[in-house]
Amino acid sequence: MTEAVAAPKLTRKDFVSDQEVRWCPGCGDYSILAQMQKILPEIGVAREDIVFISGIGCSSRFP
Ligand code: SF4
Repeated sequence: MTEAVAAPKLTRKDFVSDQEVRWCPGCGDYSILAQMQKILPEIGVAREDIVFISGIGCSSRFP
């Protein structure tokens, strides 16, 4: 019998990209991104089970 291995604890860094974030200074998207990076490590969902789908325009840079 094998024991389940606990998933590694996620942190904000697990949701931070090395890509440059390019929105206008003061854009509300920065706040949304910061909140997602804050809460996603806390909701108990594996990174590979999280998907963001976007359309076109500035918001499409979010994923
Ligand atoms: S939504 Fe786009 S155009 Fe509007 S402030 Fe944000 S980055 Fe700039």
